[in-house]
Amino acid sequence: MRLRGLMAGAVSTVLAVTLTACGGSSDSSNQPSVNAGASFEAGTTMAKLKEAGKVKVGTKFDQPLFGLKGLDGKPAGFDVEVAKLIAAKLGLTADQIEWVEAQSKFREEYIEQGKVDFVVATYTINDKRKERISFAGPYYTAGQDLMVKADDTTITGPEALKGANAKVCSVTGSTPAEKIKEYADPANIVLFDVYSKCADALRNGQVQAVTTDNVILLGLVDTSKGAFKIAGKPFTEEPYGIGIKKGDTKFCEFVNETLKTASTDGGYEKAWKDTAGKVAPDAPKLPEIAACS
Ligand code: GLU
Repeated sequence: MRLRGLMAGAVSTVLAVTLTACGGSSDSSNQPSVNAGASFEAGTTMAKLKEAGKVKVGTKFDQPLFGLKGLDGKPAGFDVEVAKLIAAKLGLTADQIEWVEAQSKFREEYIEQGKVDFVVATYTINDKRKERISFAGPYYTAGQDLMVKADDTTITGPEALKGANAKVCSVTGSTPAEKIKEYADPANIVLFDVYSKCADALRNGQVQAVTTDNVILLGLVDTSKGAFKIAGKPFTEEPYGIGIKKGDTKFCEFVNETLKTASTDGGYEKAWKDTAGKVAPDAPKLPEIAACS
């Protein structure tokens, strides 16, 4: 219900702020206060990262509001701010974060290979992924939706794709790419590596719809200058987690404590307000945190 409320408010806000919103850029000097004196049990991931003075974070580079690489070469968005909160609790500044683009299909692999220390990238917690990695969180709950051209009156929800001669675009390795098979003919599903390519395909008329999480679509609508709209009928729940090495329970608990603290000291709300909140002003409440496993 909360999500629907958020989206209803958000969509009307999109109309109101299309001309002013900056599509995900945020002030990079705007950093959470760093826990400089942090000390951690020897051998833990926290101790290793603090000692290294560096953390590698996987995030998206092409998703306005959540993770969008700016002209300064650094990503901005809600996921980026959540990562900065975690780094700050480790005693690391935003400048000590090395940002790695983590496209949907590479996220588990990058965590397994140690190419990143953790992933904050609109990353849905699910059992299949939990076979390879662990998740802290959730820190947000999105829902899958559809984005179409602003003047489209036919694709109003996923049911409209059944038997329709309409192509729908999503991203390889994402949950929406799987779920949409329940509605669209496989021949009509077009997959790219990133959502910005789906937005291009919609603009060019190569596809008639894009499907992924509503908040990702919201960012794409916001930067479309009125060309796109969201169907507005979310049809899944996508709890976003922070992906970490499988079985690293101590790090998972540390991240969860960081999230809980941020939800009470204003850090979580500020992270939202500075990013996605520019388009969807109502800051979400931190969802109930799951037990680490
Ligand atoms: N939340 C979904 C997922 O993790 C879609 C967004 C994405 O591809 O990052 O697959």
